[in-house]
Formats: sequence, C-alpha cells, structure tokens
Amino acid sequence: MAKLIIVSNRLPVKLQEKDGKLNYQTSEGGLATGLGSIYKQKDNLWIGWPGMVIEQKEKQQQIVSDLEGENMYPVFLTETEIKEFYEGFSNETLWPTFHYFSQYAIYEQKLWETYVEVNQKYCEEVMKMASPGDTIWVHDYQLLLLPSMLREQLPDVTIGFFQHIPFPSYEVFRLLPWRKEILEGMLGSDLIGFHTYDDMRHFLSSVNRLIGYGGMHGWINTGNRSLLVDSFPMGIDYEKYASTAASTEVLKREEIFRKNLNAQKIILSIDRLDYSKGIPQRLLAFELFLEQHPEFHEKVTLVMLVVPSRDAVEKYKELKEEVDELVGRINGRYSHINWNPIQYFYRSYPLETLSAFYRMADVALVTPMRDGMNLVCKEYIASKLDQNGVLILSEMAGASKELSDALLINPNDVRQMVDTIYQALTMPEEEQKQHISNMQESLKRYNIHHWVSLFMDRLSYVKLKQMSMATNYLDEASFQELSDSYANSSTRLFFLEYDGALVDYQTKPMMSRPDEDLLQLLDDLSSNPKNRVVVMSSRDKDIMQAWLGHLNIDLIAEHGVWVKQRNTGWQTLLSLIDDWKRDVRPILDLYVDRTPSSFIEEKDYSLVWHYRRVETGLGELRARELVSHLNFLASDSNLQVLDGQMAVEVKVNEVNKGKATSRWLNLLPHDFVLAVGDDWGDEDIFKAMPRDAYTVKVGTAYSVAKFHLDNCAETRRMLERLVEKKTTKKPQKSTL
Ligand code: UDP
Repeated sequence: MAKLIIVSNRLPVKLQEKDGKLNYQTSEGGLATGLGSIYKQKDNLWIGWPGMVIEQKEKQQQIVSDLEGENMYPVFLTETEIKEFYEGFSNETLWPTFHYFSQYAIYEQKLWETYVEVNQKYCEEVMKMASPGDTIWVHDYQLLLLPSMLREQLPDVTIGFFQHIPFPSYEVFRLLPWRKEILEGMLGSDLIGFHTYDDMRHFLSSVNRLIGYGGMHGWINTGNRSLLVDSFPMGIDYEKYASTAASTEVLKREEIFRKNLNAQKIILSIDRLDYSKGIPQRLLAFELFLEQHPEFHEKVTLVMLVVPSRDAVEKYKELKEEVDELVGRINGRYSHINWNPIQYFYRSYPLETLSAFYRMADVALVTPMRDGMNLVCKEYIASKLDQNGVLILSEMAGASKELSDALLINPNDVRQMVDTIYQALTMPEEEQKQHISNMQESLKRYNIHHWVSLFMDRLSYVKLKQMSMATNYLDEASFQELSDSYANSSTRLFFLEYDGALVDYQTKPMMSRPDEDLLQLLDDLSSNPKNRVVVMSSRDKDIMQAWLGHLNIDLIAEHGVWVKQRNTGWQTLLSLIDDWKRDVRPILDLYVDRTPSSFIEEKDYSLVWHYRRVETGLGELRARELVSHLNFLASDSNLQVLDGQMAVEVKVNEVNKGKATSRWLNLLPHDFVLAVGDDWGDEDIFKAMPRDAYTVKVGTAYSVAKFHLDNCAETRRMLERLVEKKTTKKPQKSTL
C-alpha cells in the first residue's frame, strides 16, 4: 500500500542518555505537531537523525527497535558527519548564504563532500523503506540533494520538498561554488515549497539563470518532467497556543512574573541566539528609546529571552559576547535599585512559561534581519486572548507577508524602531484590539494543519497533472488510426508550428527559411480541397508572408497577434477564450480572503480586484504586493497588470496561438484536426483543440498533447504519408 515518508535532518524526538539508560522525549515543534497526525497513521513513517551520536551497534539496534513502534526510523550520523555536514556545510555555508550573511559563509570542498555523502546516507535509509507508489516529503536545507538522489533510484515516486529558511536572491545564491549541484538536487522533486512568494521567485530565477529551465506560473519544465514551485506560509497550532494561554497554570505564572517586574509596560523579545535575528540592533534601538524618552524610565522593561544555539560555531560565540556586553552597558547606564530596563535570560523555556510571557507582554518586538517565517510572532498573537497587545515585526520575516496588521519595521532603521516602540506603547486599546483580532482571524484559518493539507493536496495535483502530460510516441499503430481517421473525413484542419515542428532550429533565425521539400509538402497538403492548412509562428508577419504567403494556406504570426486566411489580407485578433482566468482568479481570491471588504469583478477580457472599500493604508499595501505577484506571472504570459485607481486589473495583453486557433475551430466545419507543436508555448494550442483532435508534440515526451515525435523529419514524414494516402504526389523540384 502507498505510504507517506517524511524525511528531515532531525526526528521529532529528543534522545537522551542518563545513567546508561536511553530516554526519548517527543518534540513539540510546530512541524512535529502538524505532521504528527499523519506520520503515525497506517504505514507512514518519519526518517531522520535521533539527535545524538551513537556509535555502538547494540545501542543503535536498541534505538531502532524502540522507535519502530512510533513509526520513526533513525539515521545514525558520526561525530565527523555532524561536524562537517550539520555544523559545517549546513550551518556555516548554507545558513549564512540563505540568510543574506554571505560574508560569514565558508566555502570548503571537504564540507561539501561530506554534505553529499550524508545526503546519500539519508537516501539509502529512505530506499530501505520506500516503494515506487509512495510519497516522500523531504524537509529543509540540510537535505537539498536528496530529492534528485531519490528520483534516480525511483523515477516514478512522488517527491515533495519544503524549505523552511529563506531562498536568497540569485545574486547571493550564485556565490556558492556548488550552486548548480544544489539546484539540480532540489529539482528531483515534483513540488517545491517555500514560505513566501519572494523565496519562490528567487528560486525560479536562479533555476532559470543557472540551469536554463523556464516555465510558466511556477511550473519548471526540465525537458522530460515538469515540477511545480509554490509558496505555503507555515502556520502554528493555533488551538494549542490559545488553550495554553487560557490554562490556570499559565495564569498563575503570569501573576508571579508580574509581581517580580515592577514596570507597568513589558516589551518581549524571544529568539534563538543567531545573527539573523537582529538582537544587537534591537538592543541599540531600545537604548536609543530610553535616551529619547526618559518619561518611560522605570515604566518599561524589555524582557529578552535568548535560547542558546550552535555555541560550537565561532560566529555564535562572538555574538553571545556582543549581546552580553550590550545588555551590561544599557543596564549599567539606566538601572535603579528597583528597576532594570532589560531582563535578560539566556536559556530555553517550556511552553507554559513562554505562554505567560506572551500573555503579559504589552509589546512583542520581533526584529530579525532575515527569517524564513518566524513563529514567535504568530504564537504571541494566538496567546493574546484579551486582544490587547502590539506586534512590532520586521519586514524581513516571512510572517510579515501575512501579518500586515503588525507595525512593520526595517531592522536596520534604528530611528524607525525607536518611533515604532513609542507608537506601540501609546497605542489606544481599541486600535490594538482591531489589529490583533484581524491577525488572529488569519492565523486561525491558516494554521499548521491547513498548511500540511494544502501542501499534500498540491502534491497530488502535480502528480495528476504530470500523468495527464505523459505522452505516447506516435508509433505505427497510432499512425494507422490517425491515417484512417484522415481518410474517412471530409473537412480537415491542420495546425502546424513552423520552427521546431516543421523546420529545425538554426543558430540564426533567418537561416530557417523553408526548403523546397517543405514548400512542396505544404502545397500538396493544401491542394487537397478537403484540407485547410494553418502554419503558426511567433515570427513577424512580414517574414511569414515572404516565406509562405504565396501558398494557399492560412498563417498565424507573432503568437497570434496577426492572422491571415488564404488569399485575404492580414488582420489582428481579439481574445476569444478565457483560460488564463483560471490561474489568476485563485490569486485574487487569496487577496480577497486576506483583505476584508475587497472584491473581484469579472469582465470579458479582464479580472479586477477592487479595494476602494478597504481600510485606508491596508488596501494600498495589499495592492502593491498583488501587483508584484501578478507582474511575475504576467512576465511570461500574455497578461498585462494595470495598477489602477483603487483597483488592480489583469487583462489579456494580446492573443496567443491557442486563442488564435480557436477562431478556425469556431468558424470552420471540421471532422479531422491535427495540431503539431514543439515548445512550451505550444501547449496553449493543444489545450484549445477539441477532444478528438490529434495533437503531436515534437521533441519531448512531456506535454498535454496525445502523442509525441522525436524531430521535424518525423513530422514531415507523417504529413507526407497522409498526402500519399489520398493525393498523388507531384514530382519534387529537385527531381525535375
Ligand atoms: N521556543 C521555545 N522555548 C524558548 C524559546 C522559544 O520552545 O525558550 C520556541 C518558540 O515557541 C518557537 C520556536 O522556539 O516555536 C522558534 O521558532 P522561530 O520560527 O521563531 O525561530 P527559529 O528558531 O526556528 O529560527
């Protein structure tokens, strides 16, 4: 039976050894919770490192059998592997690069080699458990090469990949010496997910510029497969945080904390010790705030929890020293006998303690320099049962894309941070409630369970789509069927793509002039009164006219902007079908979901998102985001995005070949249709064809077409055989 295999660097369990006895603590992280309901079902399982180096074989065996009952399968890593693969390449090469700290990245061949070996090790462990019908979901930057390694061994298996950290812009990503291998590793997936649309856009542009694969609407076409890249902002287990915040245990803790903190207002900051979190910058902003606002002395305390992390790495040790020093300096400067401006805790806390902090914080100060998502800010919002509180959030956190009701700041702008802290501390309660309640609505809806099911649904959709796109070679038996249908028909339509289907590509476009054989073939085909031949191209109409205008055929030029029917003149076409709306509509729907009072209007050739009734400021903010989202989609399709008056409009920019062919299908009777195309854009033609049409893709086996052929010579041979079937072939010029 088909099962789901989850693979991540770590298993959702903490393994500890006390007095020679092994002890397992289940992890409470968001991912473990979200996937918990799935991996424990039926034959599903989770593969990863158990969190401790175990070298003794008997002990390993013991762990394997202990975890088996929990559907977990450990990958054992050696001390050296942890050093070179995890601490080294993952955390000292990939982590800084992906967080835009490339100046901290180290490039060492040895670390890369261990990274490859360890990915291979994970692959072997997965292969022990996987079968071809399974779905494998790989997580995060430690396993970027795994999707392709798995694909090589199991070509038909379904593979999803999700990256939990940012994907940097091409300009930063390309600094990595192993950039191509990394992208190729990821491209073994069927679906690649990121937290934000920007990460997805950066990934697509890196693939395009470094590997040369293009596509549309997030699809990447590798020649023999297609895969989808999409964004899935990860949510939290909303119910868990809301119900913990309501528990008596948490209320008690809050009361104790309040008694011990004399200040009236509390600002909270919680993060792992990491340079990406912007901790020193935040401290400097708080120091400047105290300097500029003496009226808040003794009235506000910054409670700063820093969770120890990666302390074996030099950069982290340096950061720890810097933070210690800054806290010492600020407290030294402003403390009174009964007031410390900063309460600093360098340790980690259980959920109940965090929850009490979330509850009592008037302001949460979440200001990373860069963060894939950031869950702390979402947990704060979910814990605010009375809806009093203000979230100050960095624009550089993935969460800022969803939480536009937060006070958004640039973490490099210390003055802006100071002003925003003041604004947060003096915000009227009504306004606080409004913002928190908006954010709570969105977080409730997009919770962790929603995230998991969205990803899994999308993965099944990709697989279905791929299956519908795998074509058969037009073999002799299929040709016979096609040829019989041709013989038995009386009104036939041929749609033939010029470059790539009838004529081979040349290095210079002007060298693809039609040869005598082709002219003869088109002439033969069109001289049969039952046949109507349409040759299509993205070339301009003057060239098409010069090369083919003398024949008794129809022409489509410039992607369908210009059309010509036999001996009539050229004319332009308006759009006739609305397929693009299917892709754009869900995006507009998402913006309606996220923006109360906005709505969609559908016109014949456009879709409009109106925001004139939306809260001032929010509408403009969302419109900017929507325009950039749509512009990306429009860049490789025939759409135009208009940033209008209180509205964003998407319209058909120009017709495409698919739409142009519809004109013939609508106007002319036909009982036999044959369409031949070769590139990604020609998929529009195949989609516009009637169900019983014969559609043939030249070059690759991957298309919505029914059949494929290998090259132009085969296309010509197919057409020649049809001509021979019913018409007497005229002698060719060369034989005259
Ligand atoms: N956290 C915790 N104990 C602490 C501090 C933080 O369990 O003392 C948790 C916090 O609740 C959150 C996670 O650690 O779920 C941090 O996730 P985030 O995405 O904000 O940052 P990351 O550390 O993953 O970069």
